[in-house]
Amino acid sequence: MKIISVAQMKAAECYAIEHGISALRLMENAGTAAAGIIAEIVLEAFAQKTVCAVVCGAGNNGGDGFVVARRLHEAGHTVTVVLAAGEPRTEEAVAMFRKLPKGVTVLRYTEDSAEYGRAFTGSSMLVDAVFGTGFHGEVEGACAELFDAMNASGRPIFALDMPSGANADTGETAAHAVCAAATITFAAAKQGQMKAPASVHCGRLLLAEIGIPDEGLPRDATELLDRALLDRALPVRTADSNKGSYGHLLCLCGSRRYPGAAYMSGMAAARCGAGLVTVGVPEVLWGVLAARMSEVMVLPLPQTAAGGLSLAALDEVLAFAEKCSCVLIGCGLSPESETAALVRELLLRLRGTVVLDADGINACAGHIDVLRASRADLVLTPHPGEMGRLCGKTAAEVQADREGCAVSFARENGVTLVLKGAGTLIAAADGRLFQNNTGNPGLAKGGSGDILAGMTSGLAAQGIDPVLAACAAVHIHGLAADRCAEKQSQYAMLPTDLFSEIPQIFRDLSR
Ligand code: ADP
Ligand code: ADP
Ligand code: MG
Repeated sequence: MKIISVAQMKAAECYAIEHGISALRLMENAGTAAAGIIAEIVLEAFAQKTVCAVVCGAGNNGGDGFVVARRLHEAGHTVTVVLAAGEPRTEEAVAMFRKLPKGVTVLRYTEDSAEYGRAFTGSSMLVDAVFGTGFHGEVEGACAELFDAMNASGRPIFALDMPSGANADTGETAAHAVCAAATITFAAAKQGQMKAPASVHCGRLLLAEIGIPDEGLPRDATELLDRALLDRALPVRTADSNKGSYGHLLCLCGSRRYPGAAYMSGMAAARCGAGLVTVGVPEVLWGVLAARMSEVMVLPLPQTAAGGLSLAALDEVLAFAEKCSCVLIGCGLSPESETAALVRELLLRLRGTVVLDADGINACAGHIDVLRASRADLVLTPHPGEMGRLCGKTAAEVQADREGCAVSFARENGVTLVLKGAGTLIAAADGRLFQNNTGNPGLAKGGSGDILAGMTSGLAAQGIDPVLAACAAVHIHGLAADRCAEKQSQYAMLPTDLFSEIPQIFRDLSR
């Protein structure tokens, strides 16, 4: 799914109209597709036909709402239309209003102010078709009261294109903005749907195709990670395959201070289907890790006095890496200068896919030449602090221009760059940009990133293209986190709890 601006969406609609798809047809398609999606979800939740209220504005979003009302009525649901802003005013909306079947009750807000409250509480779900992507400024007058009543109803709200009161470009929300359980986005995702606080008001984001030809959408738009991408990225395991078919990952992770980082990255890789996983760790960690992990092998390596990986490990690591399809370097390595020197030496000598996280990234701050000279296929997974260190900025400066930082760094240095944090971005060396919208602040705990690094390298070790491996890992990591948050709360969930949620996600993908 592409992520576009409101202006780009307008241009796409114009393109469709110029190519013979009328504005009325686009509206019919939008409302029909939205009603189909709503009916499916609602029937699953309530296992019966429902009573619903469709709240419509006076513009084209309201027009989409009239089509939804007609289609839901045709499908056997009991439908009330609430006119939020008076009679429809655009040509298409007027036409769709006239097509409303007799069986659909129409409440005019100003006349029936007592009744709409009853319409909401008497419904099992609401549809918000008031402002759509056209909103900016403040929610005023009657709409403020109406939106408050919708939010207070406790009923799930399906928003068409954008929850009313949220800006589809900036992600800002006005007071009284509608809080949807799900937002049905037409033709593409909108930039504001990715940004807080609007992203929270959107709830689940669902795509409805409305018949705009692909060429009408901007070619280089950011791609939103979704299930379709997972299907593309993750091959089905063939019946005659064996562990050798799924690669061998070496994780150079951990130190006396951070033994858990080696555990989490190794386990995460194993949970994502890698054939073999070995964690190469300072020898002091051998016993504790060998006791905790059964499937993951442990390679004890020479260590510094402080219990980090020593430069003396270089030859052994290079020899071991010969038989590996991917090397992950960095989780919990500690910031010792000798370990950093080892990292840079490895980067200059390793080939194949190398995933660099945490102190592996920090080892390259001020040494960008090493990244450029590396002949490995590099994937870097910095959080904004690490990204800032790499490119000479503060974390706040990185956050102020996440896309710019990620895209230019990936292009200029020929690497895949995963810029973590809410709405993680994946920038490819060829200029492609992907954005994720799964995950939640329950992940804001030490260890979540180690698991992501393990997942990314575990997928890449299987021969999955590194950009796709990073995209799939980020998306699944967030999905697992959302399942954790639902079951155990954002407060209580632990990074290692993700391990027990990853299996169900692969199962849903039939993998
Ligand atoms: P660690 O080694 O534990 O990763 P660092 O000192 O490298 O710690 O970086 C942590 C800092 O990075 C945080 O205190 C914060 O300033 C910044 N940072 C990390 N994640 C984010 C984020 N999602 N948004 C903004 N800043 C972040
Ligand atoms: P650590 O090094 O302690 O393991 P990182 O900062 O490297 O942690 O990684 C944190 C992970 O959690 C990243 O994948 C990041 O995107 C995710 N994360 C953190 N905060 C949020 C948030 N508010 N919403 C979504 N994801 C988040
Ligand atoms: Mg980290």
